[in-house]
Amino acid sequence: MTDDRATPGDTPHDASFETLGLRPELLNALSALGYEEPTPIQQEAIPPLTAGRDLLGQAATGTGKTAAFSLPVLQQLSAHRRDKPPVALVLVPTRELAVQVSEALHRYGKDLGARVLPVYGGAPIVRQLRSLESGVDVVVATPGRALDLLNRGALHLGEIATVVLDEADEMLDMGFAEDLEAILDETPEQRQTVLFSATMPRRLDALARRHLNDPVRITIAREKASAGESPRVRQTAYVVPRGAKPAALGRILDVEAPTAAIVFCRTREEVDTLTDTLNGRGYRAEPLHGGMSQEQRDKVMGRLRAGTADLLVATDVAARGLDIEQLTHVVNYDVPSAPESYVHRIGRVGRAGREGVAITLAEPREHRMLKTIEKVAGALITVEKVPTVADLRARRLDLTRGALRESLLTDDLDRFRVVVESLADEFDLMEVALAAVKLAHEAGGGTDDDEEIPQVSFRPDSGGRPDARGGSRGDAGRAPRRSSGPAGRLFVGLGREAGIRPGDLVGAITGETGLTGRDVGSIEIHQRFALVEVPEAAADEVVQALRATMIKGRKATVRRDRT
Ligand code: AMP
Repeated sequence: MTDDRATPGDTPHDASFETLGLRPELLNALSALGYEEPTPIQQEAIPPLTAGRDLLGQAATGTGKTAAFSLPVLQQLSAHRRDKPPVALVLVPTRELAVQVSEALHRYGKDLGARVLPVYGGAPIVRQLRSLESGVDVVVATPGRALDLLNRGALHLGEIATVVLDEADEMLDMGFAEDLEAILDETPEQRQTVLFSATMPRRLDALARRHLNDPVRITIAREKASAGESPRVRQTAYVVPRGAKPAALGRILDVEAPTAAIVFCRTREEVDTLTDTLNGRGYRAEPLHGGMSQEQRDKVMGRLRAGTADLLVATDVAARGLDIEQLTHVVNYDVPSAPESYVHRIGRVGRAGREGVAITLAEPREHRMLKTIEKVAGALITVEKVPTVADLRARRLDLTRGALRESLLTDDLDRFRVVVESLADEFDLMEVALAAVKLAHEAGGGTDDDEEIPQVSFRPDSGGRPDARGGSRGDAGRAPRRSSGPAGRLFVGLGREAGIRPGDLVGAITGETGLTGRDVGSIEIHQRFALVEVPEAAADEVVQALRATMIKGRKATVRRDRT
C-alpha cells in the first residue's frame, strides 16, 4: 500500500457531505434525495477529486461510485454555463449504464442547471447530434458511439476538463481498448482522469499508467473485517430486478414470517415508500430515518419494543446504536455500499446464541459487490430463488395447519360442537371441516398476490466474457452463447482485411444493443467478411444497430446470413 492509498473501511462514521466541501446546490440535491451521509468510497474519492487529482478507484456497482465521481464533476461546473462543448466526458460500457449515470448526474446537478447528454448506440443519432449542437456540459457515452460522433465532427473534446472511465474492466473486456485510446487522445493533455473498475487486471494497469497522472488510489479493504459476523446467522440473498423488489420483499417476509425485522434502505425516500408498501401488505411497519425528530424516533422504538410494530424500515444512520432484543431478521433492501456496513448490520441478529437471519436483495448487476462482501466479511451467503406463488400458498397452508393443530391441542372447542352437529345432518363431516379450514385460512390474512415475480440470475462476471485480444481467426475458445433460444447468424461485411477481430464485433454489439458478451455466440472472421451468432429474437435489432454504427471506424454491410 502506498501512502495515498486509502481503505474506505477505516473512515470515521461522522463524515457528512458538508464536511466534504460540496457546494450548496449539490447539498440541497442530496438532501432532497434523502442521502444521509456519504458512502465510504464517496468519503475517500470526493476530496481528492474536487482538488483536481487523478484517481484510480476499485469499486463495484452498489458502492455509490457514480456519485463519487459525479459530484466532483458537478462541483467544478460553472452554474448555468452556456458554452457549447462539454467539459466532462464519462465513458461507460453499456447503454444501460449510460442512462443510469446520466440520470444520476441530472438529479445531482438539477439546481446547477447541468446539461447532461447520454450518448449510446441504438438510439437515433440525429437527436444526439442536435443536443450536442445546442450545447451540453457532461456527455455520458459508450465508447463506440463517442468515437462515431467524434469522427463525424459532432463531438468536440477540446474543452474537456475531466474524463471518467467507469467500469473500465468491462470496457476492456468488451473490446473497447482501442476506442478508449482514440478518444483519450482527442482530449486535452492537462485534463483530470478518473478510472473506476471493479477489478484491476494487468491490462488496466497499463492503461492507467499511460493516461493517469500520479493518481490517488482507492480500494476496498481486503482485510477480513473484525468479528461481528456470527455463524448462527443464516445469510441468504435473492436476485431481484429493481422494479420487482417491493413485491419480492413482501413475498420473502410472508414465507420467513419474522417475529421482528429491520429492513435497511439507502435513502429516506426509500424508507418512506417501502414502509407504505409493507403496511399495504398487512405488515405493521414503522419508518426510522435521520429526517425524523428524536421524539418521533423514540415513539417508533417504543412501538417496536412493545410488539405493536413488527418491522422497522430504516437507514443506516438512523439505526446506528440501536439494540433491539427480539430482532430475528435483518433485511438489506439493497446490497450495502461496503462490506463493513454489511457486517455491522447483520451483527444485530444472532446475538447471545440466538438464531438470526440476514436477507439481502441484490440486483442482477450487483454480483461483484456481494462476492466482495462474502470475501471481506468471511460470510457464506447462499443465493436463493424468490418464493413462487406456489411456495407462498404452500407456506400459508402450513401456517393454517399449524394454527388449527394448536387449537385442537389447547383450546376448549366444545361450544362449537352444536354447529358441527347440526351441519353434519346435512353434510359429510369432511366437507364441514374443509369449509371451516377455508374460513380459518382466509382469516389468517396476507394478500393473495398471484403474480409471479420474475426469476432472474446474476449477470455473468466479465471474467467469462470474450477477450478483446483474441486472435483474428474465429474463436473456438469462446464460451457458448448463454441464451438458450435459437441462434440467428449475421453477415458483417468487414473481415481480416479490415483488421477486424472478434472483440471488435462483440464490442460493437454489446455497445449498441442491450446484449451482453455472453449473448454473442460463435464468430468466424474471414478475409472480407465475418459471421456472428446472436440470439434469434435479437437478430433484427442487432442488424439495425450495427448498420447505424461504425466498426473500427468503418461502415459495414450487415444482414442476416441465410446460407
Ligand atoms: P452506484 O454504486 O453508484 O451504482 O450506487 C448505488 C446506489 O446507491 C444508487 O441507487 C444511488 O442512488 C445510491 N447512493 C449513492 N450514494 C448514496 C448515499 N450517500 N446515500 C444513499 N444512497 C446512495
